[in-house]
Amino acid sequence: MTDQLTTTEPLSFDGTLLHPGDPGWDDARRAWQLRADQHPAAIVRAGSVRDVITTVRRAAELGLRVAPQATGHNAGPLGPLDGTALLRTGDLRDVTIDPQRRIARVGAGALWGDVTVAAAEHGLAALAGSSRDVGVVGYTLGGGVSWLGRAHGPAAGQVTAAEIVTADGELLRVDDEHHPDLFWAIRGGGGSFGVVTALEFRLFPITEVQAGALFWPIERAAEVLHAWREWADEVPDTVTSVGRLLRFPPLPEIPEPVRGRSLVAIELASLEGPVATELLLRRLRALGPEMDTVHSQSPVDLADLHMDPPTPVPGIGDGTGLAAFPVESLDALLATVGPGSTLPPLLSVEIRQLGGALARPVGAVSGLDAAVVVFAVTIAPDDGAAAAATTTLDALASALAPWAAESTYLNFVERAGTRTFPAATLRRLRSVKTTYDPADRIRANHPVAPFGPAGS
Ligand SMILES: Cc1cc2nc3c(=O)[nH]c(=O)nc-3n(C[C@H](O)[C@H](O)[C@H](O)COP(=O)(O)OP(=O)(O)OC[C@H]3O[C@@H](n4cnc5c(N)ncnc54)[C@H](O)[C@@H]3O)c2cc1C
Repeated sequence: MTDQLTTTEPLSFDGTLLHPGDPGWDDARRAWQLRADQHPAAIVRAGSVRDVITTVRRAAELGLRVAPQATGHNAGPLGPLDGTALLRTGDLRDVTIDPQRRIARVGAGALWGDVTVAAAEHGLAALAGSSRDVGVVGYTLGGGVSWLGRAHGPAAGQVTAAEIVTADGELLRVDDEHHPDLFWAIRGGGGSFGVVTALEFRLFPITEVQAGALFWPIERAAEVLHAWREWADEVPDTVTSVGRLLRFPPLPEIPEPVRGRSLVAIELASLEGPVATELLLRRLRALGPEMDTVHSQSPVDLADLHMDPPTPVPGIGDGTGLAAFPVESLDALLATVGPGSTLPPLLSVEIRQLGGALARPVGAVSGLDAAVVVFAVTIAPDDGAAAAATTTLDALASALAPWAAESTYLNFVERAGTRTFPAATLRRLRSVKTTYDPADRIRANHPVAPFGPAGS
């Protein structure tokens, strides 16, 4: 093994090849998740699909692994990346919309903001993530829960084809008819199976949604979240909502109305028209929210609804899927992280409503047949803050354990070790991995290992 990707002969890249200490090294190894401290053997900032192929082939010759990464939103579980070439795809941001077929084709580094804006120019919408700078490929390989999810299912369910460089450096086009096993695995199984260089997926003729958030002081968390739990159980699949505890720090970059405040919020997006949505909201509005931002908007603006950080942050968080979401599970959550809790506080604890079309089987997508997924996160600028946050995250996971689903939705798992696939799905994924990457060359944040020689 060597740490020089160029030892045997000079390579030419359309992008850039970097080794430790080169100018730009620290910038290239930095993930969106600033707590990830990545120290790969080399970094390729791919400028073309040819660069992806060259990287995979040369890494194989040198005994290095390859970790594709677009933004580094979920870099936490990847680890320090020793013996690995980090393949940054962020410059491959091509987006093409075919308005007649309602299909988007995107490169490996496209962000959701690139797609939603381009699609909206044709009156179309995508099953985008809550944040404009999440990578389309990483999000979709994990499943993809959007604000339109209960109506239209996970984003992976709309993928019609993918182009993928496998561990032996071959570029394949996969769809229902070509390499269907690989096509199944990449829709929900994550990034273990090759480097995806293009994705094609269906868009929807949606130009308007009713969306926004209702806020109350956090002291009313029990009353509001219990009412939301019952309400969410009854609304049609055209409505996707989140119940949330928020403790905003007193920082200047936080908008003035919520800066330094602790609140309970209900965020929602509805594909019902304005009148029907008003009717649906009556029960929640009867609780007298102190702020109410629900209004008619373009699907592009859904990227602001969840108030995700617009720039990289040192975050620490994790998710837990709940097979059922009875009153007692919500009480357990509130007792652990609600207003009376004495544990170190978290910036956000959200309960994402699943159900509807999200529960329908799609490829290897796992964890979305749960009732809800709870995701808790906070900012941890130093190790002390991270340790404090870990105490609370662990306490929350223990409190929710009686209702935990068999596996937790991949994209909301940010710590290594959480179970992300049911046993049968994992077996099938490992079989696909063994076929396409028996030497475990491609390194993913949520890895699927090939079977060993004895089938272990
Ligand atoms: C602020 C924020 C908001 C989010 N909102 C949502 C949301 O609304 N819904 C939701 O479902 N999830 C959401 N997520 C989770 C998000 O989907 C995952 O973090 C996802 O992995 C991000 O993909 P990425 O490419 O941006 O990140 P990266 O860290 O770059 O990639 C994650 C993993 O994807 C794989 N991967 C990426 N690119 C490729 C490629 N070209 N080929 C093969 N494998 C690849 C790799 O295994 C990589 O380690 C959010 C996360 C954050 C931090």
